[in-house]
Amino acid sequence: MKVVDVVVVGAGQAGLAASYYLTSMRIDHVVLERGRIGESWRSQRWDSFRLVLPNWTVRLPGFAYQADDPDGFMSKDSLVGLLEDYARSFKPNIRENSEVVELRQDGSGFAIELKDSTILAKKVVVATGPFSKPRVPLFAADVPKSVFQIHSVDYKNLDQLQSGGVLIVGTGQSGSQIAIELHEAGIDVKLCVSKCARFPRRYRGKDVAWWLEKTGYFDSTSHSLPSEKTRYACNAMLSGQNGGRDVNLRGLGLEGIQLLGRAERVENGEMIFAADLKSNLDAGDLAYEKCISLLNDYANNQKLTLPADTNETIDFDPPFLKSLDFKRSGVTNIIWSTGLRYDFDFIKIPVFSESGFPHQMRGTTEVRGLYFLGLPYLHKKKSSLLLGISEDAEYVVRHLSNISNCV
Ligand SMILES: Cc1cc2nc3c(=O)[nH]c(=O)nc-3n(C[C@H](O)[C@H](O)[C@H](O)COP(=O)(O)OP(=O)(O)OC[C@H]3O[C@@H](n4cnc5c(N)ncnc54)[C@H](O)[C@@H]3O)c2cc1C
Repeated sequence: MKVVDVVVVGAGQAGLAASYYLTSMRIDHVVLERGRIGESWRSQRWDSFRLVLPNWTVRLPGFAYQADDPDGFMSKDSLVGLLEDYARSFKPNIRENSEVVELRQDGSGFAIELKDSTILAKKVVVATGPFSKPRVPLFAADVPKSVFQIHSVDYKNLDQLQSGGVLIVGTGQSGSQIAIELHEAGIDVKLCVSKCARFPRRYRGKDVAWWLEKTGYFDSTSHSLPSEKTRYACNAMLSGQNGGRDVNLRGLGLEGIQLLGRAERVENGEMIFAADLKSNLDAGDLAYEKCISLLNDYANNQKLTLPADTNETIDFDPPFLKSLDFKRSGVTNIIWSTGLRYDFDFIKIPVFSESGFPHQMRGTTEVRGLYFLGLPYLHKKKSSLLLGISEDAEYVVRHLSNISNCV
């Protein structure tokens, strides 16, 4: 059986970036993708999705954003098109519709099982993404059968929903943006607020992404994380809709979205909420204040002359609601925006910590020839972003090109 030098699993931005460097170093490799190029963006985002970070942050190696709207926020279809153009630009060997169902060590190399064949490789780069497995709380099973339930990863548009109100559980980037979309479509939205940061979309004339890059936020490393748990903290609420906008939950509350605490359990046809609405909103505000002071410190140190802040403070303290009766409230739908985790179940190699994250250093592992790419804080904050994948992919490919490995 032919042994491939390198197998890359996954053809999202991370797998393609790895393939770019492998191609430029003339290293024999194949990219295996379970769906099509950019599958996560195709099938795991809602129809009206826009990037949260501006187009100029699309910095794939050898393919930085060049079009005429660097400050815009591209749609998911445009991003998929861009990833396809990227692949065409260096013509990697990509096998679409090729799901890896098992990866194991085989001699000093690896055996990669597809549904209908096995590939042997000397080295493997796992680039299967940070967001593969939807998380839904167990008590979802106790929700009355008449209520339609869907995870945000499967939500595409409001045609999927029953008529009636919608309870959205979770205010990460997905939940908060879907809430706005439904509210603007005239649907009664109730929103369980999570402990997520909010950042200003624009501050003193610049998009927050400009500031975050200048201040080194995207370059903060995993060593700066106070605990392993914070690796998975939700990203700050922001939106790329309508040219980019803030997501301030207090403002949404004033506009008529009913804000609720964390969904805790279901009892007798009622959803019960934790008494954490106030503290979760306060935590978002505190993160906002910290962000502002980081930006101001930078502006002062650099002696930048910038316009004054025009963001307005919204004073709105929503009342606390202990429970919600599905029938009486008219809520006929739940969108679980409770997050996603990576899925490494197919990897039969003991390389994971208790939390399931690979033991790794900048994507390299103690298993000779096994690498990871694209995970949150794999090395830096930007490791899972279009903005930062180039740096990690280059490091990993240079590392693997320097080790010899025979099967
Ligand atoms: C709401 C939201 C907004 C976001 N906004 C931005 C933004 O503005 N800017 C930004 O940079 N990032 C953004 N992100 C983050 C971004 O979506 C991910 O970080 C990014 O997709 C990671 O790229 P990746 O290549 O590592 O993983 P993915 O894009 O998930 O690619 C992994 C690929 O591996 C394939 N795969 C998985 N398992 C297997 C297997 N067993 N066999 C074969 N193939 C497999 C998948 O089909 C997929 O194509 C956002 C995420 C969300 C949820």
